[in-house]
Amino acid sequence: MQKYAFFLKKKVKKTKKLRIFAHLLFYSVILKKKDIAKIANILTGVRHVAVVSHYNPDGDAIGSALALWHFFMQKGIDAQVVLPNPFPDFLAWLPGAEHIVVAEKNKTKARNAIAGADLLFVVDMNAAHRAGQEVEPMIEQCQAFKVLIDHHVLPELPCDLSYSTTQTSSTCELLYRFLFDELKCKDQLTHALSTCLYTGIITDTGSLSYSCNNPYTYLILSKLLKTGINGEDIHRLVYDNYEASRLRLLGLSLSRRMKILPEYATAYIFLSSEDLKENYYKIGDTEGFVNYGLSLKNVQFAAIFIQREKKVRVSFRSKGNFDVNLFARTHFNGGGHRNASAAYCDLPLSETVAFFESLLPQYQEILTRPYPQNQISIVHAKNKS
Ligand code: MN
Repeated sequence: MQKYAFFLKKKVKKTKKLRIFAHLLFYSVILKKKDIAKIANILTGVRHVAVVSHYNPDGDAIGSALALWHFFMQKGIDAQVVLPNPFPDFLAWLPGAEHIVVAEKNKTKARNAIAGADLLFVVDMNAAHRAGQEVEPMIEQCQAFKVLIDHHVLPELPCDLSYSTTQTSSTCELLYRFLFDELKCKDQLTHALSTCLYTGIITDTGSLSYSCNNPYTYLILSKLLKTGINGEDIHRLVYDNYEASRLRLLGLSLSRRMKILPEYATAYIFLSSEDLKENYYKIGDTEGFVNYGLSLKNVQFAAIFIQREKKVRVSFRSKGNFDVNLFARTHFNGGGHRNASAAYCDLPLSETVAFFESLLPQYQEILTRPYPQNQISIVHAKNKS
């Protein structure tokens, strides 16, 4: 028995060492002691918290924002989530979603929540303009202590504390690290909070199919599951909760609006505003369509072009090392991650698509390299000039 206890002790020591090693290996952001003290001090005196995220909020944006909302409300601290525009119906079941203020619908309430906050969290976005024209000045003018939690490249939001790395699956994963590894608020990890974080992690990784090779992501998921949440139910709520309009639009996209260019290992979908109207489009209906192109054998680069009012919304996806963040930044003034990025284009739909096709020849050699040796090595346009 004693021997066994010794063995356990030894094992615990070893596990601790391993944990520290994993920490150093996978964490490119570790808060300094003084930052932890600073934030802990702010948390004790804070009275009003506001949390904002990006335009067209996705599961990770809403999940991380609501997780913070739960964190503070559980502590008895007033909190308010402000999102720039409406979020998709398939995320409306998230606990606390009914308390979100949508700036496009209630600008005064949004402005008051942000202006009246003494602590502002900005999540899942790297620059104020990502929150859209209405919310951008609210963030910039906010006098509160600002904390950024984000996993996009090149964070450029002026803030008091930036917790940002691209070495993570999602903002929700990063928020877990922030609240529970760094600030050690383990007793705050409730069922509702876990539900929000779990949703963000699975939606930002395409149900754990990309940006999720870090073993720590799975450790976090397991800790979230231990709070009693049902991962299968969450999956069903997110993915089996669509409107008929989505399936009809998907049918149209795949049958008549998809172009496959085998010579560039590329496939793209284009949808006009008439297509959306005829199929009773609702926000979120086209979420994930871009991934269908990538499911094709030999396709390494997928795009979708959707005409929305005066602009065309563009999304890119890739397999392996083809850096669509760099592609979006260089040619479309957009951004995102290596395998998933987005942008807006002011050209009409047909011209946007033609422009996109005109860019492909310069990437032909890279795109047709066998996966995963398809790394872009172009220079950023701004550096060129
Ligand atoms: Mn995200």
